[in-house]
Amino acid sequence: LKEHNARHLWHPMAHPADSLANPPDIIVEAEGVQIIDVDGHRTIDAVGGLWNVNLGYSCQPVKDAITAQLNRLPYYSIFRGTTNDNVIELAEMLAAFFAPDGLSRAFYTSGGSDGVEVALRLARQYHKIRGEAGRVKFLSLKKGYHGTHTLGASVNGNANFRTQYEPLMPGCYHTPAPYTYRNPFNETDPERLAQLCLAAIEDEIMFQDASTIAAFIMEPVLGAGGVIPPHASFMPGVRALCSKHGILLIADEVITAFGRTGGWTGSRHWGVRPDLLVSAKAITNGYFPFGAVMVSEGVAEVFEKDTSGRGAIGSGYTYSGHPVGAAAAIACLRETERLQVQLNAGARGAQLFAGLQALMARHEVIGDVRGGHGLMCALELVADRGSKTPIDKKTIGKVHRATYEAGVMVRVSGNNIILSPPLVVSETDVANILSALEAGFSAI
Ligand code: PMP
Repeated sequence: LKEHNARHLWHPMAHPADSLANPPDIIVEAEGVQIIDVDGHRTIDAVGGLWNVNLGYSCQPVKDAITAQLNRLPYYSIFRGTTNDNVIELAEMLAAFFAPDGLSRAFYTSGGSDGVEVALRLARQYHKIRGEAGRVKFLSLKKGYHGTHTLGASVNGNANFRTQYEPLMPGCYHTPAPYTYRNPFNETDPERLAQLCLAAIEDEIMFQDASTIAAFIMEPVLGAGGVIPPHASFMPGVRALCSKHGILLIADEVITAFGRTGGWTGSRHWGVRPDLLVSAKAITNGYFPFGAVMVSEGVAEVFEKDTSGRGAIGSGYTYSGHPVGAAAAIACLRETERLQVQLNAGARGAQLFAGLQALMARHEVIGDVRGGHGLMCALELVADRGSKTPIDKKTIGKVHRATYEAGVMVRVSGNNIILSPPLVVSETDVANILSALEAGFSAI
């Protein structure tokens, strides 16, 4: 299998020559919160698929819902107003779920990158309908990740997802992330750093001219950039700046929606109501590709009251509102709410974060530990703590492999080890994740 893999298969986010140099190996089965490789080696999936498998791999009600839907109506498009019972029921459930965030309309996609694309396009369209056609630019955070489509890559704040594909979309500008470990202000106090980052955003808004900016897009907790939680004042500050300058706020909650931060949405966690919210990943927990862009009443009204025809939505995918995806999402949302997974995410997240801090005290190579908001944590590895030089790829690879051999799959992203286990992990699972990491670090 490995030989065939090397010959015919290219992997996302991997060099074709070294895609199997480190775990994951060939995964053939999964059960509960564990994955099983081709050699029968069982590991706790501390990545949670790809931050999406919140409910674990054995969620029978979701499997049953998918099977029943496949037998009843495997596919029909919802283009131009054709509809089906599932997508209607799901939209109602999502409107209820996101009501505290002020969001009441759902536009379906097949994943997060599509959702980002749709949200950015809707933002431009919103301003055009209102006669502010000059509002076309987008602002976002450095270290932000917004998928791999061209608009998403353009607002992406990580060089490695951008440089090979330039020139990207003009009109996208990035401001400093509230990243206490490394920032251009050399500020280590999270609250003061949040204020400096907000000042930088306002400065950029003035520099660009507010009347040319359509939207600010941000993750409530930066994920793929290395799990960077901002100070509690940051997102409310961005909201205030957006409102003051007529800019739409898009919350990219592809990772954070549905409980991962310990609250139901990342925006709610910070007490913010965005204008648009992108959800995907845990909406179907990996059981089916799906996503939903949620729209606020205020934005929806502009489209719905438009009589010029400019409000017609020109975005859509063959698989927008796939009935099987919708069936999976309905079952996932029911399970998510029934199990109140956000509560366990908060409790187990606190256990994990405390354990990682203890690990840092024993291992010099850990320069920073980030977390404290549910089950999203990261360890940043450095060659030495003084210079903060990122650790080399080979050493982090060794930690990765040794941790895997000790029974836990983690994710390596640059010089970070990222942990985002299913939200249904037990206290023992978290203890096992920590002891496997201990073994991983002891290997170097
Ligand atoms: N936005 C964020 C914040 C993400 O983390 C991701 C995926 N990791 C995306 C967008 C893209 O989603 P997808 O991979 O489903 O296209």
